[in-house]
Parts: sequence; structure tokens; C-alpha cells
Amino acid sequence: MHKNIVVRQLPNFINGEFVETGDTFDILYPITGEVTAQAHKAGQKEVDAAVAAARAALEGPWGKLAQAERSKMVRAIADGVMKRFDDFLEAEVLDTGKPYSVASHVDIPRGSSNFAAFADVLREHATEAFKMDTPDGAGALNYGVRRPRGVIGVISPWNLPLLLLTWKVGPALACGNTVVAKPSEVTPSTATLLGEVMNEVGIPEGVYNVLHGFGETGAMITSHPDIDGITFTGETVTGSIILKAVAPTLKASSMEMGGKNAGIVFEDADLDLAIKELGRACFLNTGQVCLGTERVYVHESIFDQVAERLVKYAKTELRYGYPDDDATNFGPVVSDEHRDKVLTYYKLAEEEGAKVLHGGGAPTFGDERDGGSWVEPTIWTGLAHNSRVATEEIFGPAVALIPFHDEAEAITLANDTAYGLAATFFSTNASRVHRVAPQLQAGIVWVNSWFLRDLRTAFGGMKHSGIGREGGVHGLEFYTELSNVCIKI
Ligand code: NAD
Repeated sequence: MHKNIVVRQLPNFINGEFVETGDTFDILYPITGEVTAQAHKAGQKEVDAAVAAARAALEGPWGKLAQAERSKMVRAIADGVMKRFDDFLEAEVLDTGKPYSVASHVDIPRGSSNFAAFADVLREHATEAFKMDTPDGAGALNYGVRRPRGVIGVISPWNLPLLLLTWKVGPALACGNTVVAKPSEVTPSTATLLGEVMNEVGIPEGVYNVLHGFGETGAMITSHPDIDGITFTGETVTGSIILKAVAPTLKASSMEMGGKNAGIVFEDADLDLAIKELGRACFLNTGQVCLGTERVYVHESIFDQVAERLVKYAKTELRYGYPDDDATNFGPVVSDEHRDKVLTYYKLAEEEGAKVLHGGGAPTFGDERDGGSWVEPTIWTGLAHNSRVATEEIFGPAVALIPFHDEAEAITLANDTAYGLAATFFSTNASRVHRVAPQLQAGIVWVNSWFLRDLRTAFGGMKHSGIGREGGVHGLEFYTELSNVCIKI
């Protein structure tokens, strides 16, 4: 059903207070293109105030808390998000247009569990200890001590706004850091709402700060001399700009960037399973998942069958609609700008010789949704492996199916990319599974599945997809500083 929209104000959140600047930009509802909110842009004054508040909290109440107490407070944030579940759901849907069925199962629960899962990460992690020999025979003992890195700048994207923000804020706070966050300018609502939760559960002022704005505001954060580390998720091009920006002030950085993830369907795959998982990998969240699959290599003996079945999946399983309709599982993309980018690739695919098996354009509805940012789920064959469409990240609901001849060729094709975030392949042959998995150049490899996430495992990309790993204890490399203490006995 169409919503009655009341335009909201989205202030910055600095030192526990909501701060309007009066310099606003519009947030649009991707379902219809209507204005749903006005975000207040932060300038240098607000950035300086947020960094100063974060520094004071680090040196004051938050920094002085016992670890067990801090873990308890981080768990309280997880509960606080769940208490406001419906508010978060509503805010996320207004910013992204995604169906409630997606946001209520993925975005909001994970937004909460990112606090619960990391609350005890530091307490449960044993640091290394080495007893060493010394010439006098008495020996010495080494042990590691972890301390918070300091004030962390969090820069996050629009595709899973709360999930990807809290993926960083959760471990940052659990490790005793304070945060200055800049959510995407396209989806700033849930980060603002999280400020309310911080106050509701009694997180000290200055621990979590939110600044709104575009790349310009982000650059004020990345270049700020009093920020100790930057954790970024977004496009590879932006990541490269950020790495240059942090260099003069020598900040630690953790980079999660773009991908062009491959899928492989071997001739011995369970095809029912493969189609179901690939359907999700290609189309969940309208293809706007960094781990999503945009090129699938299929053994030549089953190529036509897989193509036909994936088209059937797209035709029967994906349903456009209003977000609050239970049947809806396929929404618009996040903005007109992104729709135009995706449609440019749809046109390019045809110029590059693609056969369009499904979709290839934008749907029309004959109602207010025609003002929104919609594209069709799209399946191509006939594209060359090295075509632009099969090599560049589209970040939309589109997939190129490409045949392969044997296992070695499939691995070569999957690895022949500048990126290395995720790969997913399907085979029922256990030897093949163990042989192929370690050869794929990707930070995350799924076998007979996709997007199965245990938050204790390492997450991140190789090559142009990332630098460093977050998740579980791996995030400690970025969110803490490790000192070695050597005691002569
Ligand atoms: P983006 O790079 O355009 O923006 C990401 C964030 O960076 C936004 O908050 C933006 O305002 C900010 N930013 C832009 N320019 C900046 C600058 N010069 N200095 C500081 N900050 C700046 O990315 P997006 O379009 O929001 O998100 C989509 C991209 O994110 C895709 O490439 C996708 O693959 C990637 N992504 C990666 C992962 C991962 O885990 N590797 C997860 C989700 C999304």
C-alpha cells in the first residue's frame, strides 16, 4: 500500500545531542521518488565537535569502564535496537524502498546482533604469551596487551545501511573505542535512530556520534588529525581516495570495497539447490549486496538447463510490490542515480552482444511507483568473459551466464578479475569441493550455499575488494592496538 509520508528532520548526533545545521539535503523514497526526510549536513565545525566529544569520552567515562561493564552496555544496545525494531524497520524501508520481508529478516536483526555478537570479543580473546630464555638462565616472560585504537571514523554505504554501520560500530565500541560515523547520504535514517538508542540505554555522551553529508563531509573525517583509524565500506574508487586521504595523518585503515563475485555450477551440482541459492545470490536486495553474484560460470553440459531454470526462478519467485505487502520480495534500487547506472549496463550488455533471457529494462506500473527507482531482474547469456558487463561491478539485479569446459577453466575464469570479495560454487563431489575452494581468490568462499554468515569468521576481500579482515577476533587487528610486554624474571 502507498504510505502517507510525513517529512522527517534528520539531525547530526554529537556528544549525545541532536544537532541541526539548517543546511539540509533531501532523502527520497525509492518506491515513488517522494521526499521522506531532510538530513542536516555537517561541516567542519560539526566534525570538529564530534571528534572532540569522541576524544573526551575515550579519555573519560567510556575509556575508564571495566571491560565487563562495557560488554554489558554493548549488549544493552543490541536489546535497545530490538525494542525499537518497528521504528528501525520503518526508517530503513523509507530510505531504501526494500521490502519489509527483507529488512525484517536481514537488516534489522543483524543490526542488533552486530552488538550482541561482538560484546565479549575482547574479554574472550586470549593474547599470546611466550616464555623466553635469557643468558643468565632466569628467562623472561612476554605477553600481549590489547588496548582500544582510539577514535574511529566509520564511513558506510547505502545497500545495508544499519547492518553495515553496526558491523563496525559494534566491535569498535566493544573494544573500548569511540566512534564518529558518517552513514551514506542516501540512507542516513537508521544511523540517526541509533543515536536515540544510545541515549535510551545510557551510553555516555560522545561515545557514538553521527555526521550527515556527502563525500566532502567524509573527507573531513578521513583527514582529521585527531581520528586514530578509519573503517570504510563502499566502492573501490572511493576506498582508494580515502587511503590517500589518511596517509598524511598516518591513520590505520580497514577497507571493505567492491566486488564482481563469481558463481560456478559444476556438472555434478545439485541443481535444485544451486538455482535456489543462485536466485538469492543474484537478486536478493535487488542485487545490491556486496557479496552478490554477477557472473556465473556453468558447465557446458548443463548450461541450457541452468539458464532455463534461473529464468523460471526470476519469473516465478521474484515479486515487485509495495514494501508492506507480504508477497513482495523485490524492491527498487536505492536511487535514480543508481537506477541510471544499472540501466546503462543493461544497454551496454546488448551492445556487447548479450542475449537477454529475462528483464533488461525498467518496469512500469501505471501508478505513483513510476516515479521510483525500479529496474528489472536481468539474465544474460552470450557475453564474453572479458566484456565490460562481465568484469565491472554493476551492483544491481543482473547476472551473466557463461559456459566453461572443465574445472581448471572454471577456476581460471572465476579468478580472472581485479576483485576478490566472494565466490560461491556448487558441486556434490567432496574431492572437488576441497580441491577448488582454496584455489578461488576470494576472501569468502561458499560451497553449495550463499550468504551463510557466522559472525565469528573472518570477513573481507582480496585484491581490489579490501584490505584487512573484520569479524570475530579478526577485527581486533584494527579495533585494538597490541603491545608486547616483556618482563625479565
Ligand atoms: P560509495 O563509495 O559511493 O560511498 C560509501 C561511503 O563513502 C558513503 O558514506 C559516502 O558518502 C562516502 N564517501 C564518498 N566519497 C568520500 C570521500 N572522498 N571521503 C570519505 N568518504 C567518502 O559506496 P556506495 O555507493 O555507498 O556503496 C556501494 C559500494 O559499496 C559497492 O561498490 C559495494 O560493492 C560496496 N560494498 C562493499 C562491501 C564489503 O563488505 N566489501 C559491503 C557493502 C557494499
